[in-house]
Amino acid sequence: MPPYATSDIVRRVGRFGRVELIHLPTPFRRLDRLSGALGGPSIYVKRDDLTGLAFGGNKSRKLEFIVADMLAKKADAVVTWASLQSNWCMQTAAAVRRFGIRPVLLLFKTYDAEPGLDGNLLLDAILDADIRIREADKGKLVKSGAAMAALEAIAAELLADGHRPYLVPVGGSLPLGDMTVPLGAVAYVDAFVELARQAEAAGVGVDAVVHATGSGGTQAGLVVGARALAGGCRVVGISVSDPKGPFSEDVLSIARAAADALDLRFEVRPDDVVVFDEYIREGYGVVDPEVAATIRLVFQEEGIVLDPVYTAKAMAGLIDLVRRGYFRAGENVVFFHTGGTPALFPNRKKILELLGRA
Ligand SMILES: *Cc1c(COP(=O)(O)O)cnc(C)c1O
Repeated sequence: MPPYATSDIVRRVGRFGRVELIHLPTPFRRLDRLSGALGGPSIYVKRDDLTGLAFGGNKSRKLEFIVADMLAKKADAVVTWASLQSNWCMQTAAAVRRFGIRPVLLLFKTYDAEPGLDGNLLLDAILDADIRIREADKGKLVKSGAAMAALEAIAAELLADGHRPYLVPVGGSLPLGDMTVPLGAVAYVDAFVELARQAEAAGVGVDAVVHATGSGGTQAGLVVGARALAGGCRVVGISVSDPKGPFSEDVLSIARAAADALDLRFEVRPDDVVVFDEYIREGYGVVDPEVAATIRLVFQEEGIVLDPVYTAKAMAGLIDLVRRGYFRAGENVVFFHTGGTPALFPNRKKILELLGRA
């Protein structure tokens, strides 16, 4: 199957509406000290933590497309859900406020965080988001099902108040509610194109991309981008919440829907979706010694701050995979930094304890 030209993919992505929220392209560079310390493949970073909207992250890349869809549908309120310290909900609130859209956030207590308005919750409060907090099982992201039903009840309430609500699922990933196309994944097809161009300009052939995967849209988009452009590049998702079996199916279905939306004539195959679930360890959002040590290592060696819920687990996975020989010396592996740093602060106690600084 001949890959598509980057200009062709850019044209297809360009058929979707988009608002300008972030600074692109995000930086791409080699992590010299980390690569040297690991003594295996060359490790590079793609800094999607530096998108620039409200501390940055992958959600703001997705929101350029999703907010355009809200505006096209003349929404004046957005309703979505995720965990208490959700990057998605905070970035959604920050993005929509700029367009006069009211953010309504359903936040589930999926892990024990310190009480009080800290981290993303502080930012949600400053944005004056309409926050509804619910209990939930610990250690796992709340996906569709129950959350979608609760969301519909809130939407009905907003409709009765004369609003035009737009319902969008956790992470902007699954096409559900008012988002009928997986726009978050479309944004990450575009991100893969951006990376491919930067790597080419730097004379780097990308053998693999590694990133934290949670609701699946980022991975789905990267998988479609990798299939469309560069036959050989593997996309490796490090799950932070769900076991790889059912989760890989979610990613596959989002990827296929994204490929369809872009009229790409190839079938995304189950083996295009590579997910590792052994780095979830104690569960979603649980900070363990490995997470704390990885945050310290990457901050000290490279001056890059990772977050405890997503990117530190993904980096711990990458480092372990290098040690296990999953990547070979001479290969070029790109770590996609997806953001999330505000979550450091509500986890300060645990991190300091684990680093012996409490
Ligand atoms: C949401 C999120 C992810 C996962 O992206 P999905 O598209 O939901 O899989 C990774 N890292 C950070 C920091 C996130 O906030």
